[in-house]
Amino acid sequence: MELFYKSTRSDDIKVTASQAILKGLSPDGGLFVPSTLPTLDVSLSDLTKMSYQEVAYVVMKQFLTDFTEEELKNCINRAYDEKFDTPELAPLVKADGAYYLELFHGATIAFKDMALSILPHLLITSARKNQVKNDIVILTATSGDTGKAALAGFADVEGTKIVVFYPKNGVSPIQEKQMVTQKGDNTKVIGIHGNFDDAQTGVKNIFGNKELEKELDAAGYQFSSANSINIGRLVPQVVYYVYSYANLLKEGEITEGEKINVVVPTGNFGNILAAYFAKHMGLPIDQLICASNENKVLFDFFSTGCYDRNRDFKLTSSPSMDILISSNLERLIYLIAGCDAKKNKELMDALKSAGKYEITPDMKEKLADFYGNYTSEAETAETIKDLYEKTGYVIDTHTAVAANVYKKYVKETKDTKKTVIASTASPFKFARSVMDAIDAKKYDSLSDFELVDELSKVANVAVPKAVEELRTAPVRHNTVCEVNEMTDEIKKFLGL
Ligand SMILES: *Cc1c(COP(=O)(O)O)cnc(C)c1O
Repeated sequence: MELFYKSTRSDDIKVTASQAILKGLSPDGGLFVPSTLPTLDVSLSDLTKMSYQEVAYVVMKQFLTDFTEEELKNCINRAYDEKFDTPELAPLVKADGAYYLELFHGATIAFKDMALSILPHLLITSARKNQVKNDIVILTATSGDTGKAALAGFADVEGTKIVVFYPKNGVSPIQEKQMVTQKGDNTKVIGIHGNFDDAQTGVKNIFGNKELEKELDAAGYQFSSANSINIGRLVPQVVYYVYSYANLLKEGEITEGEKINVVVPTGNFGNILAAYFAKHMGLPIDQLICASNENKVLFDFFSTGCYDRNRDFKLTSSPSMDILISSNLERLIYLIAGCDAKKNKELMDALKSAGKYEITPDMKEKLADFYGNYTSEAETAETIKDLYEKTGYVIDTHTAVAANVYKKYVKETKDTKKTVIASTASPFKFARSVMDAIDAKKYDSLSDFELVDELSKVANVAVPKAVEELRTAPVRHNTVCEVNEMTDEIKKFLGL
């Protein structure tokens, strides 16, 4: 059955999956959603016999119906290869009564690799399917993590180039080193004199520059973005929930059809929305447990039905969840409004003008699948320490936010269902916060790389290749520019 994608903000837009991937955002400002949520067409026991790549195919083909089998398998095989440091790509680790789904075995040791390693291939395939002759130039402004994951995904992918802007003095030394050592002739990393907002505004202006668009087109290029609202990032994330269920079943931890819960440390609401899609595909998931850090807009939303971004922004030890507007929530709002684009647009307009909106009682009833809670900074550190002392297993700060919310959930509900916790980053990525949590006094004076070695000893886990390589990797990018020079730098890179 052919699936189409509609906009969350009007009824008159209807595109294929490949067109939705190419466009990213709908022209009316809405997000693309499948016209119906597809279901799995293989049994749970069949899934237990499949590799990650095979599960990826049976899940993604249900969403990307205008891709041929060959096209989709080609994308999957190029994405999910030796870039990952474990053969099963997303292993489950049982610790203290829960199953940690490790989504950090890719090139940049965080879960965004799961989607960003396949997005470039989906994008190029989509371009070819829609007779786009131009090369795609990905433009990204980053506060640290997404930029590196996008660089790693797009490096040396034929038919693409990628330019990443970051605030020169606004990322951590390790994050900067990760980016400026990026390999690949099609990559360009540029520091700007300004903060992340300046970088992001600069990129937005470049996207809106019609003259530049024409100039690029004449030279055989067009811009695109890799941000997390693209369905080409959402769909690959459904895969690992299905895969983790199959793994539990294969290992005899659950029986066929037994319901599990899923806990997701949440920022932009992309990862947990993928779990919701997995549930609607027929995967036996009961509760979707949404974990926030001290920026607890989502916890308040699930408890009151009111989404209110008017509050102080907090910098926490789980920075990838420091978000006050969870963009992907719009898709859920649209779905629980009964696919009512007008209603959704009204709420999103209110969010833009007043910074808040309230859903109807009917809509609130449809949130029964979700449980929300949050974790304070002190609880995050305690959770890392406690789990380590009890089991020897070391988790990162984002995962700790989820682990603590799971504890609160069990205490409140006495629910004993088997539970998968999405583990979204390697502890090595946030070594300082993690080691501080374990023993602040002991590790305080160590340098970043000394800490990494200590963590390796403490956790009894080898230093990941992605970190090891950084020690000696040569700097390949040293361009720094003013905000008003960003366009010129892009042109220089493209030879215009
Ligand atoms: C991006 C990110 C998150 C949040 O995921 P969303 O899909 O934005 O909700 C959580 N943890 C880590 C480590 C991340 O990089």
